[in-house]
Amino acid sequence: MTSDAIQGGFDLISWNPNIEEMPRAQLDRLQLKLLKLQTHKMYDFSPFYHERMRAAGVMPSDIKTLADVKKLPFMTKKDLRDGYPDKLFMCDRSELLRYHASSGTTGKPTIVGYTRNDLENWSESLARAMTSVGLGKDDVIQVSNTYGLFSGGLGFHYAIEKMGAVVVPASTGNTERQIELIRDLEVTAIASTPSYLMYLGEVAAKMGIDIKKDTKLRIGLLGAEPWSDRMRDRIYETMGVKGINCYGASELSGPLFSECSEQQGIHIWGDLALVEIVDPDTGEPLGPGERGEMVITMLQKEALPIVRYRMGDITTLNDEVCACGRTHPRINRIQGRVDDMIIIRGINVFPSQVEHSLMQHPELGNEFQLVVDRKGHMDNMLVRVELKPEAFTDNIIELNALRERISNRLKGTLNVSAKVELVQPGTLPRFEGKAKRVVDRREY
Ligand SMILES: [Zn+2]
Repeated sequence: MTSDAIQGGFDLISWNPNIEEMPRAQLDRLQLKLLKLQTHKMYDFSPFYHERMRAAGVMPSDIKTLADVKKLPFMTKKDLRDGYPDKLFMCDRSELLRYHASSGTTGKPTIVGYTRNDLENWSESLARAMTSVGLGKDDVIQVSNTYGLFSGGLGFHYAIEKMGAVVVPASTGNTERQIELIRDLEVTAIASTPSYLMYLGEVAAKMGIDIKKDTKLRIGLLGAEPWSDRMRDRIYETMGVKGINCYGASELSGPLFSECSEQQGIHIWGDLALVEIVDPDTGEPLGPGERGEMVITMLQKEALPIVRYRMGDITTLNDEVCACGRTHPRINRIQGRVDDMIIIRGINVFPSQVEHSLMQHPELGNEFQLVVDRKGHMDNMLVRVELKPEAFTDNIIELNALRERISNRLKGTLNVSAKVELVQPGTLPRFEGKAKRVVDRREY
């Protein structure tokens, strides 16, 4: 296959306003066509993936149905690290327009390159997502994600401009000024992490600004860390802001997908990405509704190929047509990370489950921490959680009774017992980026 023939395939799917409600059978055919093209392109132009396919004994011509995607070898973050900085790229440098890099907190950073089409598809994907929650050109959207090498800030920035809304490129930090901007520029939506939005709410209250009454902020485009429905309810109750669950990763481009206004799962645009759920241990595909690790194949990437990339996120797939009319598959709320999952006395515990359980108690604030250590062969988990200012008391009997209720509920949710420590409001660390909830002191 020549590169001209491949390019021809892309013309077919230039922006089409009806693509989001395309009948499912047609979407499946489009995905298969794109998967075949992408597989050919990687085999021809990506020495890394060519070698990977040869080692697995699979040729592009082996992809005859969508289910054949499982014949292709997985990619992991390690592949991107090993290929640092650009060994995995499959285009000429002259075709690149931008680089982004991951934070590199756990080793070498990973570098992602973008061609013009890669940037265009990224903005397209996120613009569709924001449109699906009712945002449009009359909105003023503040981007409180980091600008720079991190893909969050610029990703939202260009997608907002593509949609025709006004962008406020606030980036992170200087929270008081961010709150003034929200009020003075009549900002209607904010892109940030959920924990930063809650922090912003706390700071606003201290400044005597009621987000609900004094501002027009109504939608939060939230992602980059796991969070629960209870946290969403709390954001709505305290700030009047509807929290929209967004999804993406720097390796895929950046933030790409979100829930629609039905809020029944995150739409993964099928013309851009093919999503699978697999058993995290065996790598075997799982069916709709079965909980496992999300694996994504980007169907139109030009610079950095992403094929059967193991996201490390635990979720379930919903293949039914959404009430909003969109036919593209949905993933449910991320329930944890394969690598964030902690095992306590043989039981899998996700910080998101702990959060969900804690949020049932109106006396508790938003911040918590899990501290795990091991005495002898026995794992112990301590849950440290902040009380709300109004629930703070020196009445030991009351506090003990509350601790007991929290502990019982945790045991019911997690099937493992945990000690609970109630701490004063404002004492646990705050995070402007991803919240780090787990302190694991065990030696492995
Ligand atoms: Zn929908």
